[in-house]
Amino acid sequence: MTQTLDRPGSEVADRVEAWVSAFQDALSARDVGAAVSLFADECYWRDLVSFTWNIATVEGTDEVADLLTSVLDRIDPTNFAVDGEPSSADGVDESWLTFETAVGRGTGHVRLRDGKAWTLLTTLDELKGHEENKGDRRPFGTEHGANPDRVTWKESREQEAEELGYSRQPEVVIIGGGQGGIALSARLRQLGVPTIVVERNERPGDSWRKRYKSLALHDPVWYDHLPYIPFPENWPVFAPKDKIGDWLEMYTRVMEINYWGSTTAESATFDENEGRWTVTVHRDRGNGPEEVVLRPAQLVFAMGVSGKPNKPEFPGMEAFRGEIQHSSEHPGPAGYEGKKIVVIGSNNSAFDICGAAWEAGADITMVQRSSTHIIKSDTLMELALGGLYSEEAVANGITTRTADLTFASLPYRIMADFQRPAYDEAKVRDKEFYDQLREAGFDLDFGDDESGLFMKYLRRGSGYYIDVGAAQLVADGKVKLVKGQVKEFTSDGVTLDDGTHLEADLVVLATGYRSMITSVADIIGEEMATRVGKVWGLGSDTTKDPGPWEGEQRNMWKPTQQRNLWFHGGNLHQSRHYSLYLALQLKARQEGIDTPVYKLAESHHTE
Ligand SMILES: Cc1cc2nc3c(=O)[nH]c(=O)nc-3n(C[C@H](O)[C@H](O)[C@H](O)COP(=O)(O)OP(=O)(O)OC[C@H]3O[C@@H](n4cnc5c(N)ncnc54)[C@H](O)[C@@H]3O)c2cc1C
Repeated sequence: MTQTLDRPGSEVADRVEAWVSAFQDALSARDVGAAVSLFADECYWRDLVSFTWNIATVEGTDEVADLLTSVLDRIDPTNFAVDGEPSSADGVDESWLTFETAVGRGTGHVRLRDGKAWTLLTTLDELKGHEENKGDRRPFGTEHGANPDRVTWKESREQEAEELGYSRQPEVVIIGGGQGGIALSARLRQLGVPTIVVERNERPGDSWRKRYKSLALHDPVWYDHLPYIPFPENWPVFAPKDKIGDWLEMYTRVMEINYWGSTTAESATFDENEGRWTVTVHRDRGNGPEEVVLRPAQLVFAMGVSGKPNKPEFPGMEAFRGEIQHSSEHPGPAGYEGKKIVVIGSNNSAFDICGAAWEAGADITMVQRSSTHIIKSDTLMELALGGLYSEEAVANGITTRTADLTFASLPYRIMADFQRPAYDEAKVRDKEFYDQLREAGFDLDFGDDESGLFMKYLRRGSGYYIDVGAAQLVADGKVKLVKGQVKEFTSDGVTLDDGTHLEADLVVLATGYRSMITSVADIIGEEMATRVGKVWGLGSDTTKDPGPWEGEQRNMWKPTQQRNLWFHGGNLHQSRHYSLYLALQLKARQEGIDTPVYKLAESHHTE
C-alpha cells in the first residue's frame, strides 16, 4: 500500500507499539476485559485458522470477548510484535504484526482509530515442528557418497505412484484437479501430507482447455500466480486458456503431485467411528475404467465453484431443429459463419461467446434476462486492482503475499465501503460507454449497493462482465440485444415471454453455474449434502446471496457440518491464498494436533 504519513513516523510507530504491547500484556494475563478495551466499539477481528481453527470474523466487542474467552488458554498467544514500519492515513494507523501461538507462528495486521483496534487480522503461517522444507531447510536432493542400495528420485516417485491409493492409503483425497485441487495438493506435498488428486479429465489443465476457444483469463497475471512458482516476468497480462492449461500441467509435474487423471469419483461415505472415508473412483490407466476404493481420513471437494452447469429446461427443447449448448459445452463459433446464434444470458461467458461469434461472422442476438454489472477491464485494473496487483505494485515492493494479506485484512462487512469509491469513479470515467449501453437498451447495475464486481463475485459468483471489447458490440447494435425471459423453444428458434420470436441455428445457454454442493450431493448423497448446505456466498441478503450473515464464504476452506469434509476453489487469487490455510488445517489433523473449532458455521440453504 502506498500511504502518506500524516504525522511523524515515530509517533505512529509509538502508538502502534503501545497498542501491541498492551494487547500482548492483556493476552498473557488472560485478561479478556483488558484486551477487549483495546478494541473500538465498531471493530472486526478476522482470523484465518490461528486463533479459531476456522476462518471466521467476529464483529463488535461482545464477539471479541466471546472469542477470547473461548480460545485464549489453549491458543496461548505470545510475542505479538510490530513487523516493519507502521503507516498512517486518514486518521487510521496500520501495521503488520507477527505473533506465535502454542502450536504455530502467524502474521497479523491491525488498523487503529484513536488508538483502538478497528480491524484486526490474524493468520497462521506455519505449524511449529512441521515447517515446510524451504530456504535453509530445502531438501538436499541427492545422497552424496557411495550406496549400493541407492534409490533415485525417479525410482522413488514411481514407487510412490504405484503404492499410493493401493497398498498405502493417502491422508487426503481431493476430488477435482482444476487449478484449485492442484494448488492445494502442492501445499500438502510441501507439508508432507500424502494426497491423491482425482480428476475426471485426462490431463491437468483440461478444465481450461475444454472451455470456449476465445477464452483468456479475465484477471491479470499479478492476481493469478500459483503457490511456489509465480508466472515468469514475460508471462502475458491475460493468459489464454490453453496456455494456463499447459502451465497447470507443467506445475503438476514439477510439484510432484499424485494426479489421477481419467478418474471419476462416484461415491463417498464417512465412517464416523473409524474417522475415514470410503471413496469409490473409476480410474482409467489406459485399459478402461477400473474401480478403486480409497480410504483417506480427509476428503476435499475442489469441483469448481463454476463446476456444475445450470441448464434450465424449457418447453419445446426437444422439437428444436438446431443445436443447444450450455456455455461450458460451447467450443466456439466455427461452422456458424452467417448463421443465427441466440445467446441466453448477459454475463461474462455470454459476452465472450457473442464477441467471438461476431468476429466469426455469425448473426448474433443476446437475450438479457436480468441486469448485469459491466466494468471495463482497464478501468478495473487501474481503479480496483492496481494498488495491490499490478506492475506498479510490484515496483513499489508489494509482494503477492503482502497483497493477499492486505486484501484479507478487510472484513467482508465493510468491504463494500472500500470497493464503492472505485466504481463511483468508473461511472464518471466511463460515462460515455455506459450511456451508449443504456441507449442500446442494456440493463446495467453496479450491484445491490453499488459496490461493483468483486462484491458480486463474493456474494453470488455471477452477474457481471469484465469488458474486453464485446460490450461495445452490443452498444453499437452489432450484437443484437433483446430483453426478456425464454418462454419456449420452437422447431426454428426461441420465443420469449412477450411473444418475441428469435430464429436460431444455435442457442447457447450462458445461464451460469450452480453451487458446488449440488454436484457434491451426487457423490456424498442428499442427506449429507443438505446437512453441509450451500457453498459460497456471505449471507449478505443481497440478490442470490440470502442471509443470515455469515461474514465469510459459506463452507469454503474451513470445517463444515460434516467432520473431515472440506471445500476448496475460487478464482486463482483465492485458490493461492486460502490453499495455505486449508493445508495447515489438514496437516494439523494428520499430526493429531488438537484443533477445536471456534464458531463452526451453521449450514444454510442448499442452492
Ligand atoms: C468462462 C469462465 C472464465 C473464467 N475466468 C476466470 C479468470 O479469468 N480468472 C479466474 O481466476 N477464474 C476464472 N474463472 C473461474 C474459474 O472457474 C476458476 O478460476 C477455476 O476454473 C476454478 O478452478 P477450480 O479448480 O476450483 O475448478 P475447475 O477448474 O472447475 O475444476 C474442477 C474439476 O473437477 C473435476 N470434476 C468434477 N467432478 C468430478 C468427479 N466426480 N470426479 C473427478 N473429477 C471431477 C472437473 O473435471 C474439473 O476439472 C472462469 C470461469 C469460467 C467458467
